Amino acid sequence: MAVEPDSPDEFETIDRLFKPLSEGAPEAQGLMDDVAVLPARMGQDLVVTKDAIVEGVHFLETDPLDLVARKLLRVNLSDLAAKGAEPYGYLLSVSWSKRCGWPEREAFAAGLALDQKQYGVFLFGGDTTSTPGPLTCSLTAFGWIPHGRVVSRGGARSGDLILVSGSIGDGVLGLAASRGELSALEPARVEALVKRYRLPEPRVTMAKLVRENASASADVSDGLIADVGHIAEASGLRAMINLEAVPLSRAARAWLAKRVDPAEALLDLASGGDDYEIVCCARADRAETMIRVAQDHGDLTVIGHLVEGEGVAVSYMGDPMRFQRAGWRHR
Ligand code: ADP
Ligand code: MG
Repeated sequence: MAVEPDSPDEFETIDRLFKPLSEGAPEAQGLMDDVAVLPARMGQDLVVTKDAIVEGVHFLETDPLDLVARKLLRVNLSDLAAKGAEPYGYLLSVSWSKRCGWPEREAFAAGLALDQKQYGVFLFGGDTTSTPGPLTCSLTAFGWIPHGRVVSRGGARSGDLILVSGSIGDGVLGLAASRGELSALEPARVEALVKRYRLPEPRVTMAKLVRENASASADVSDGLIADVGHIAEASGLRAMINLEAVPLSRAARAWLAKRVDPAEALLDLASGGDDYEIVCCARADRAETMIRVAQDHGDLTVIGHLVEGEGVAVSYMGDPMRFQRAGWRHR
């Protein structure tokens, strides 16, 4: 039966757009069976994570769907990397909204195809529906790790250093930039920030380094301070963060240079979310190794350490900052 070009059919969507993304892998059964089949690997654990995104909540109706799809995949790969796992593949559930005709669906699939190549993953299967409501997608990513080696949030020890990958703050600045709120910055900087917000770069190449050296690790998605707080709580320790050590991109440094109060501005960057970096802990000698090796793929920077106690303490140039309901502020 012929399908109207402007009214995509569920089965044709699967056949035309999703089947190629399974890359003929046996796990996917050609997307023609009721299930996918993942063969067990001796001596390895399967690490699983899931994130869902909703139009109007996590992205705008005007956002290009190739970028929406890529970000959905990437935020999940970021979780796997933070645990030290190597990406394997993913399941995808999509509820298309009314605006999703063939061009939109094709863009969505094309975005996934691009990132599958970059990160070496493929599609195992999923579910496809339509909705009168907003476009909603959910992705479950699978990764492998040697048995028992997953790096939890709870393994840090007193005296461990806290390290963060790449740079912090571009997520929250990118969101502001995409809302047109950073017009004082040079256009090239604004563009870099918007790009980083729309298309984070998960630290997949750091997974091995993390699993071989880190005592605890988390993905930075809620905001650096909050995510360090998760590690401190799970490890039963107190985290000491030096704000001035938090690594920034060139665009974020340009933004910071225009702020009256650098400590408050750094707090905003360290409290904003959507960075998709890795924050991890390691003994000093291990941290040294990690920093040296990480130079080849995105850098790691020491931003603090852990001590006995609980909670998170934040300081700027040795001055303690205090936390209010509105966020972190000067003491
Ligand atoms: P079921 O009726 O058992 O739910 P479906 O008709 O939904 O089966 O799916 C048929 C096949 O297509 C399955 O292999 C399923 O995994 C795959 N599939 C459906 N939707 C998607 C999707 N969004 N992404 C990947 N595979 C999908
Ligand atoms: Mg189904």
